[in-house]
Amino acid sequence: MKKLPDKTIERLSMYRRNLILCLSQGKKYIYSHELANDLHITPVQVRRDIMLIGYSGTLRKGYDVEEMIKLIGTIIDTEQGKNVAVIGVGNLGRAIISYINGKRSKLKIVAAFDSDSEKSGKLYAGVRVFHLKELETQILEKNISIAILTVPGDVAEEIAERLITAGIKGILNYTPRPLNIPSHIYLEEYDMITSIEKVAYHSKSAEEMNYSYR
Ligand code: NAD
Repeated sequence: MKKLPDKTIERLSMYRRNLILCLSQGKKYIYSHELANDLHITPVQVRRDIMLIGYSGTLRKGYDVEEMIKLIGTIIDTEQGKNVAVIGVGNLGRAIISYINGKRSKLKIVAAFDSDSEKSGKLYAGVRVFHLKELETQILEKNISIAILTVPGDVAEEIAERLITAGIKGILNYTPRPLNIPSHIYLEEYDMITSIEKVAYHSKSAEEMNYSYR
């Protein structure tokens, strides 16, 4: 299968989350318009995405919820799953560990790292903290391929370089420092301040220019 666009992957992840909820509520089949309604997008978009991953429901019953969850899993996950590390076990690092772990069987935070020796050996939501000097050995030993960066911005670049040399394939960068990394490493950067400033800008425009988004 061809590489799917980022936006499609984002929607597939949202579909799966919604489908898991449906299944837990005992719903076995779902129509594209129901899924679209829940996610505030168009049924055409849903049908296009689902067709793209090679699935078609039945006209009468809609999509089989369980089958779709499995199929989306084969697109997003790998059979054996991926091991993840969090680098920087401060406020954000700890919140991420508690939030993510246990939510996805194929994505597991297996280690955390910090330069503060006081944190070494501690457990957060079942995840052990290692000293930064153990980064390379633990990445190799635990077969870690994804890293979440929650260190101060001024050390982000240096840590990213070490991670890449150690064999990491994807980085989720939460620091405010944009990273310059080789193109074969997948990088996702998220900054809450940019998001809130976007909201501030748009709400200001809506107020001042007197137009509406709905
Ligand atoms: P924090 O000070 O609570 O935690 C930082 C942790 O990193 C500490 O435990 C510290 O010991 C550790 N650390 C420092 N240098 C290190 C190094 N070289 N290697 C490994 N660990 C090291 O800070 P926080 O509030 O958790 O924020 C962490 C990062 O996330 C900051 O860069 C902050 O700007 C950013 N942040 C981003 C968002 C977002 O939306 N993207 C939101 C909040 C914070």
